[in-house]
Amino acid sequence: MTKAATLATTDVVVVGAGITGLSTAYELRKSGFSVVVVEQRFAAFGASGRNAGAVWLQTCRTGTELDLARAGKAKLRQYVSELGDGFEYQEKGGLFFFETEAQGRILEEYVEDRRAAGLDVSILSVKEAQDLSAAFPATALGAVYCADDAQIDSQKFVAALSAACIRSGVRIFQNTAVLSELRNGPSVTGVKTIRGDILASGVVWATGAWITGLGNEGAMVPVGTARMGQVVTQSIDALLGPVMHGPRGVDLVGALRDLPGFTAATFAPPTGNHGQSVGYDDVITQNRAGSLFIGHSIDAVGSLNPHISMAATQAMISTTLERFPGHAGLGVTGLWAGLMSTTPDGLPILDRVDGVYVNVGHTWGVATGPISGQVMAEIISGERSDFADALSIDRSALESDVIG
Ligand SMILES: Cc1cc2nc3c(=O)[nH]c(=O)nc-3n(C[C@H](O)[C@H](O)[C@H](O)COP(=O)(O)OP(=O)(O)OC[C@H]3O[C@@H](n4cnc5c(N)ncnc54)[C@H](O)[C@@H]3O)c2cc1C
Repeated sequence: MTKAATLATTDVVVVGAGITGLSTAYELRKSGFSVVVVEQRFAAFGASGRNAGAVWLQTCRTGTELDLARAGKAKLRQYVSELGDGFEYQEKGGLFFFETEAQGRILEEYVEDRRAAGLDVSILSVKEAQDLSAAFPATALGAVYCADDAQIDSQKFVAALSAACIRSGVRIFQNTAVLSELRNGPSVTGVKTIRGDILASGVVWATGAWITGLGNEGAMVPVGTARMGQVVTQSIDALLGPVMHGPRGVDLVGALRDLPGFTAATFAPPTGNHGQSVGYDDVITQNRAGSLFIGHSIDAVGSLNPHISMAATQAMISTTLERFPGHAGLGVTGLWAGLMSTTPDGLPILDRVDGVYVNVGHTWGVATGPISGQVMAEIISGERSDFADALSIDRSALESDVIG
């Protein structure tokens, strides 16, 4: 058998060029390591290039989830000054609107809980919400406003990170799928790619949902996957201002779901005309060019099928038409699904597992991805880290069967 050609030799090879992998590469390079990033397609091919860009703090559970999101927001601010303001970082807060009185009553309890967590929140009337957002939905009866939420353009963020990595000496190989790890006994010596071997002392899997498809070649980590859908429209003149969360589907809003008064039926997701049920996480954002990002259907749980379903498309379109009846003629410029990751406690997993490092399981990775790069670099360097213990693979919460 002929020996595979060596494509590169480096201290650390990071697999995956999404927010997580590129942040990890950038922070490792700042710590003095030589770094190679290897990506099966192109940077932002995964969830990092298909999301709404919301930096949610108000929806995070008190404790590590909220602490990590706060640290993530601080990291994004740091990146604005280090990488330049090319990724539309905006601190306009977030509106969680309600469409029934029952939802409004539960959101009052939510406001108390969020205040206790130190967040800057208040309940707004329709008029007050309209003053903040010219595109406040016609169906809304009021909203919770949180001044701490923020927003980025995720595709532009990945582009800014890629450019910063290259400037600092990180080598990025695109269209280069990793096939397996290279091992010498118990030691991992690099990765085997479709273009040759990359020899490295450290390997970081930052492959998002694809970690589940790597079988024995990747570390076995308790990450669940699902397909999350998104509709993007032509630009509208009215400004959304804050990022928005609606009440039709709150599967990923831990802070609300944990309240004693929460009832799932009060925040039920939309159903299709033919009774199809699609999970939903009800988010609307707008980029600086004025395009609406409407989501998020959730289906195909457990699979790596990236194609949006017709039922998911219908759920997003019919919800949007109810809320914005004047926009029925608006062009759809993007319709896609991305593969999302979940863990039993909603926190990512950053650790060394069976000789390799993993930085995966980011459900809300726009906030958690950037700070995870720093945490991963601290773990690899053997430095003290504020988050390493809470994100380790042997935390007790990962023993639960419940993914979400
Ligand atoms: C529709 C949608 C909307 C979302 N909205 C938000 C939001 O508003 N706010 C928020 O915080 N989060 C949001 N998310 C979640 C967020 O996008 C993710 O948490 C985040 O992008 C995860 O980043 P990542 O780098 O870990 O994974 P990914 O971006 O998926 O990157 C993984 C990369 O690894 C590569 N890869 C996989 N296997 C291999 C291999 N064998 N060899 C080489 N490369 C490989 C993939 O091609 C991919 O580029 C949303 C997600 C979706 C799908």
